Amino acid sequence: MADEKCTTCGRRLNVAGDELSADCGGDCWGCVGEAEADGGYEPSLEKVTEEWRRGLRPNWTPPTVTLWRPVGEAELRLIEASGWRAFPPRLPDQPIFYPVLNEDYAIQIARDWNAPRGGGWVTRFDVKRAFLDAYAPQQVGGRAHIEYWIPADDLAAFNDAIVGEITVTAEFR
Ligand SMILES: [Zn+2]
Repeated sequence: MADEKCTTCGRRLNVAGDELSADCGGDCWGCVGEAEADGGYEPSLEKVTEEWRRGLRPNWTPPTVTLWRPVGEAELRLIEASGWRAFPPRLPDQPIFYPVLNEDYAIQIARDWNAPRGGGWVTRFDVKRAFLDAYAPQQVGGRAHIEYWIPADDLAAFNDAIVGEITVTAEFR
């Protein structure tokens, strides 16, 4: 049937070039994906978030917050060893884990602090908003410098709240 439509939104199903129109049992992937993502089904949340980032879902609000973190090479290798899923445990003299809310701030730290010390990388990742709600964003220095202070003991729970993979967005040597 060439003219089947989503029973929820009326979108024509299985239209070439419209990936959200894929038929998911009578409804389109556009509707089904958002319902599953908002329901917390992680594979759908990852896919829908990725589609939202590409501009395919302008009216959707992700239940995740995008964070960045500048890292040195040792931390980068440990993240890689986790399959790009988790940040390594803090060292005994590092009681706080600092992800930041602004890419520019992460770039500045990676470039100005990490790079002269063996290399700096900027990582980007999505964290469930419901988890972060327990922590107050901290403004440090300039207005655009906002970070979260996650106690080392909470880092395992923080890692569990990461949706999808940790990606590297910039490298400074
Ligand atoms: Zn639909």
